[in-house]
Amino acid sequence: MTGSLIIRGGHVVTAADTFRADVLIADGKIVALGTDDGWTADRVIDAEGHYILPGGIDTHTHFEHHNLKGTTRTADDFKTGSAASAAGGTTTFVDFVRGLPGESLIDAFHRRRQAAEQGSMIDFGFHLMVPATANSDDSFDQLRHLTEEFGATSWKFFMAYTGLMVPDDVLIRGFTEARALGVLPMVHAENGHMVNAAVEALVEQGLTEEHHHMHGHPAAAEREAIVRAATIAEWVDTPLFIVHVSSADGVNEIQALQNRGRPVFGETCPHYLVTGYEDYSHADYEAAKYICSPPIRESRHQEPLWNALATGVLGSVGTDHATYTMDQPEDLPPQKPQGRGYFPNVPPGVPGGRGTPHGSLRTGGRARTFRPEPIRRHDVDQPGQNVRSLPPQGHHRARFRCRRGHLGSAGRAHHLGRPTPVPGRIHPLRGHVGQRSSAPSLLARRADRPRRRTGGDVRARSLPIADVAERTSTDSSPRQPIRIIPTHRL
Ligand SMILES: [Zn+2]
Repeated sequence: MTGSLIIRGGHVVTAADTFRADVLIADGKIVALGTDDGWTADRVIDAEGHYILPGGIDTHTHFEHHNLKGTTRTADDFKTGSAASAAGGTTTFVDFVRGLPGESLIDAFHRRRQAAEQGSMIDFGFHLMVPATANSDDSFDQLRHLTEEFGATSWKFFMAYTGLMVPDDVLIRGFTEARALGVLPMVHAENGHMVNAAVEALVEQGLTEEHHHMHGHPAAAEREAIVRAATIAEWVDTPLFIVHVSSADGVNEIQALQNRGRPVFGETCPHYLVTGYEDYSHADYEAAKYICSPPIRESRHQEPLWNALATGVLGSVGTDHATYTMDQPEDLPPQKPQGRGYFPNVPPGVPGGRGTPHGSLRTGGRARTFRPEPIRRHDVDQPGQNVRSLPPQGHHRARFRCRRGHLGSAGRAHHLGRPTPVPGRIHPLRGHVGQRSSAPSLLARRADRPRRRTGGDVRARSLPIADVAERTSTDSSPRQPIRIIPTHRL
């Protein structure tokens, strides 16, 4: 058989199995897994001693994300942000749509989509953010329109941040509308009033150094919001997705809900797993690097989060990639320095995309990793199940896909689809298997090589591979040019 790339000698991780195999790629697709029995290709990668994984779906990014007032913006745009994702082994991201001041949700959607189409190097989709004012304006008409016409399958509700924070009546109506449309509601679960009260108390006491950000976001606020959202979801009878769970308190509540059979799903993020308050509690301005919401809490929360991933109580890892720079570049609106010495003004967000959300993570010199099985379960299957990211080839019930020329694909393809209402049920993932691979088509095909057939040990599968060695990004995590992980790290 002839292809453009052979990856030889690695341990292939699929959704079903892990086995040693050679991988043959042609026309941007994996065409064979088996024994390299005389295969030919323009390029061969020796993956001996490595795992070969499918590309990841990062269901939580904030590229070109403007704050509510429109006064600042994350440093990564769709190009640099998606490059970071790809470098981390992610081949699809799901970002958010929210209107700028005075902008409708529909206009915001088209603006964001166009920007992503122009900038992104990998596939993408969007969650829609439900405005706090949704019960008193036409937001739900717009949400319905975007859902029915453009295939949005998840709506996000903020339970914190003044101006974004949805009142309970919006949660109730929003969950009800979501259920009717088969949309998965997702919540930023922090009680915004508790957060505001905690922040005000700190400011009154003059405790405004950067590290006090954590004290302004008590774990109790997360717990309260999870319980409230889940209670409303139960009453409405809809599944619920809790994003960026940061505390043992939150994990305990989700576990209790799941023990009662409730379809409540949770996500956590790499920064909650590998960093703790102790890492920045004695830093001055450097602590601004760690400011995100919910906050990076005391390290005692890490173990329960890892355990929740191991047991499946938390079903996915998203990066919540939201970069702000520590200095102030001229070409960006105010970044972290605007809050120097006064944490409420520090824009919250940390990078993560390039740090590969489903790869190996290290903490305190001790390697902590997702082993192949959890990699499959948490980071391949579940995010797609929860947010229905991409069906096979994106044919139906899809978000849309953008195949960028940067990575040398056969061309851009958009797949718009209408979701079928499936209240209380989650669409199974078929997303990764069948996606086109971007990287191999970077390579010139050589037609002069003789075509040879392999023996019988070939299972034709198609898995995406990210190869982005030439990309750059503001994300400073280590480069990982292809999704091949040394086995000794697992
Ligand atoms: Zn986020």
